[in-house]
Amino acid sequence: MAGVLGGLPDSVLSFAYLVAATLFVLGLRGMTHPRTAARGNLVSAAGMVLAVGITVLWFDILSPLVLLAALLVGAAIGTWLAVRVETTEMPQLVGLFNGFGGGASALVAGAELVDRFGSVGSTAIVPYDVTAAAALAGIIGAVTFWGSLVAAGKLHGLLEGSIRYSGEQGVKLVVLLVAVLAGGYLVVQPGSFGAVPTADWVPVYWLLVFAASVLGVLLVVPIGGADMPVVIALLNSLSGLAAATTGFVLDNSALIIAGTLVGASGFILTTIMCRSMNRSLADVLFGGFEESAPGGEEVDIYEGHVMSTSPEEVEMLLDTARRVVIVPGYGMAVGQAQHAVAELAELLVADGVEVVFGIHPVAGRMPGHMNVLLAEANVPYEQMKELEEVNPTFPGTDVVIVTGANDVVNPSALTDESSPIAGMPVLHVWEAETVVVNKRSLSPGYAGIPNPLFANDNTYMLFGDARESMQALVSEYKRNH
Ligand code: NDP
Repeated sequence: MAGVLGGLPDSVLSFAYLVAATLFVLGLRGMTHPRTAARGNLVSAAGMVLAVGITVLWFDILSPLVLLAALLVGAAIGTWLAVRVETTEMPQLVGLFNGFGGGASALVAGAELVDRFGSVGSTAIVPYDVTAAAALAGIIGAVTFWGSLVAAGKLHGLLEGSIRYSGEQGVKLVVLLVAVLAGGYLVVQPGSFGAVPTADWVPVYWLLVFAASVLGVLLVVPIGGADMPVVIALLNSLSGLAAATTGFVLDNSALIIAGTLVGASGFILTTIMCRSMNRSLADVLFGGFEESAPGGEEVDIYEGHVMSTSPEEVEMLLDTARRVVIVPGYGMAVGQAQHAVAELAELLVADGVEVVFGIHPVAGRMPGHMNVLLAEANVPYEQMKELEEVNPTFPGTDVVIVTGANDVVNPSALTDESSPIAGMPVLHVWEAETVVVNKRSLSPGYAGIPNPLFANDNTYMLFGDARESMQALVSEYKRNH
């Protein structure tokens, strides 16, 4: 150790890492509830600033002034992104962040190998745990980087469709084998037998990274758009694993802890999302999602059965309602209707109506999407009810207002075994007295399938943009109350 922290005992560094790790855990705990999520984010960020700051200063990697400048530049880019990127574009932004994390891990692990053992002519024996960790970091990091770029490109609409070809799984297996063999070669270390100088096998690491990069692209290219957010969650988990393995290469406990936390929480999230969509992870990665285009079947289902309504008529329904459930979906996010929806709920509550929001775990395009938007509009957390809690209450509900949701209220998940969403838990809105569905047309949602709910006897379609329709409903309600 040198630089500004020179002279301090090693235990100071260990203690700082312990504090950082504690902040990560406390931060994660905060993120388990919407009310404490923002604070949890700040606590974790403080842990990261501490971990990065102490590492950079302790090992004299940068001067305090350069560190401060780097923090300011990073904060400026982060702020710019946070302000500029729409909430609906968050999944691809998260995807890019994961990718950069994975890419950085692969590069840092490789650079450490070169730095410590790559000098020309050296036959130094490299500890097995270091080469094994570096090989894993290289493979997982490169898969994460390229996989995330493809996933973000698909979510942003830059890359379209799922590319499938015959012998697909075989090709992936061969590429994986190349990466694993290169990793095995690194661990066996021919240099240690005195046969090959250490520096000569360092390029094998980059061969491994190259093979893993190809694998990252091949793995994500066939996966359809509907499954992409699950892939982003999985890649998030992989970016954590890559960081943790790089932590072993660097012998850095803060990186090992932070990486493991990201890896574990990302994997839990992946599992929750798969369960909410009734998909297995293997199905997502290798099966492909049947994205059926709306066709003749749609016309058959809707023909002559769809009843449209107006804000005036919906307001009359609300006049006599005692219990109202509002079900938001992706369209509420697109239309940025959360403030109008929150105002409507407030007006109803003020008139003694019981109002709750029915939140499906995969409504929108990322976990917690609806909670975040409604919290932004100051909807009380107590009004947001999860699927299991709200489903039994629909039979006692007078009016359900579905705004911008489609797949999460599709009864064919329960009735049609051949449906791509068969078995997915959905909100049983049709059990209420009356259902009002607000969307712009009869177009399908993410799964690309028709929704028989729209043709039900107790369903009225309020066609229009979510924000405009909700604002019109609010104005109408205010005019009559
Ligand atoms: P859907 O994607 O099923 O439907 C959204 C509906 O919103 C569309 O049918 C669209 O119809 C309507 N819409 C779009 N823009 C507007 C607007 N401006 N105003 C009013 N309506 C609008 O959304 P859900 O939230 O019901 O379901 C989410 C889907 O995403 C599920 O299939 C889920 O599995 C999937 N998914 C979600 C993930 C998550 O983490 N949340 C992750 C992975 C997948 P129209 O064009 O007619 O207006």
